Amino acid sequence: MITLPATITSFMDQFRKNGFQIYAVGGVVRDLVMGKVPPTDGNDWDFTTNATPQEILNLFPQKAFYHNTYGTVTVPSDNNLLFEVTPFRAESAYDDSRHPSKIEWAATLEEDLSRRDFTVNAIAFDGTKIIDLFDGQKDIERKLIRTVGDPNKRFGEDALRLMRAVRFSSQLGFLLEDQTRDAIRNNAATITKISGERIRDELLKILASEHPAEGILFLRSTGLLEFILPELDVCFTVPQKSPKRHHIYDVGTHLVMSLKHTPATDPITRLAVLLHDVGKAKTFRKDEETGLITFYNHEVVGKHMMDKIADRLKLSNKQKEKLVRLVEHHQFTVSEIQTDKAVRRFIRNVGHEYLQDMLDLRTGDRIGGGATPTSWRLDLFKKRIAEVQKEPFKVTDLKINGQDVMNALGIPPGPQIGKILNDIFAKVENGDLKNDRESLLAAIRV
Ligand code: ATP
Ligand code: MG
Repeated sequence: MITLPATITSFMDQFRKNGFQIYAVGGVVRDLVMGKVPPTDGNDWDFTTNATPQEILNLFPQKAFYHNTYGTVTVPSDNNLLFEVTPFRAESAYDDSRHPSKIEWAATLEEDLSRRDFTVNAIAFDGTKIIDLFDGQKDIERKLIRTVGDPNKRFGEDALRLMRAVRFSSQLGFLLEDQTRDAIRNNAATITKISGERIRDELLKILASEHPAEGILFLRSTGLLEFILPELDVCFTVPQKSPKRHHIYDVGTHLVMSLKHTPATDPITRLAVLLHDVGKAKTFRKDEETGLITFYNHEVVGKHMMDKIADRLKLSNKQKEKLVRLVEHHQFTVSEIQTDKAVRRFIRNVGHEYLQDMLDLRTGDRIGGGATPTSWRLDLFKKRIAEVQKEPFKVTDLKINGQDVMNALGIPPGPQIGKILNDIFAKVENGDLKNDRESLLAAIRV
């Protein structure tokens, strides 16, 4: 038994009082059927109705506004929800697997549900009873993503559905039903008709989902990966098992395993984890005599690849900067004999903002290569990162200033003061001297 929140019920009543049909539909009904709590904020409530856009606007004259070209009217609720109401739609003719040539309205709920992509998304709820014409509930029970109707036809109409199928499977932890999966394979190449922005949105949703690694493997096994991230796709044929090296997987499998095990949740960080070694495909060298495999400078090659991938996927400047930085500097070494200066350089290169992301990348990288999540060296490195950040970065952060130098040595102002401060700073930075007043004053007096 599903009970709707009171705001939803009264919203739906407004339609019925005026003689219209109204149904909750799509993701929110799917989630309700799965026993999840309906969203109380965000714009996730979708409805369908036999009212026209103008009639919907008339029902909520103060609040409602047109949302997009599909006839969707948005009605903001009093408690910050956005209700998206779309009149019954028919599946219109698609002339290019991308845009319907024109939007056509439908007379019945049945017709509207039959143009929806997957059975689990085609369940409607009128507040009392479920209308499930395509066995969506059964597929939820079996944990399957299946198209409504003939999969080849449905993917032929709209190629974005190819990625939506994989996206829902990784969000929900479902498998792709056999015929649906075969049809994705048959139609995989048509994904190239979809814009970078829309591919990006789906890819980032896959990465942000509960099962990102499985999602990437589904992209691969359906042939979509070849078109979306060819740089990653080729990595599954690049071996890295070599004498005296710890690697147990090929590069592609290592990358997916790294993604699976990283503690990072941000999709861009996860993308960096997934792609951090793609430069290895281009830098692979095998010494025929020793059998030793190397990938010199793969992070530099990788950095340039990230530039191209970010542009292709229309990432924002900020997202691009993060992706590039994480991949460029992922190859950092951690060693107990590193100087504080080296640790500081690492922080400067990566940027304070991305330090945690970089450490999360390393954790994934380690586990994804068959190692333990951390090591005493890495733990020590993390401690040192925290410590050196407490230490001064600039001369002006020293606990003494020029006046102190003049007083202590009894000398007049001049270039010498700056030189003395710089020498002291270098010693503090190298860890030879502590940054407290006493020690610093003592040091300048010798
Ligand atoms: P979420 O909002 O959690 O991402 P959702 O299932 O609500 O998931 P939306 O993209 O918001 O997905 O779309 C709402 C509904 O509209 C879907 O459940 C589906 O019924 C239908 N739909 C959306 N996009 C398509 C499409 N490309 N082809 C067919 N039906 C679609
Ligand atoms: Mg939705």
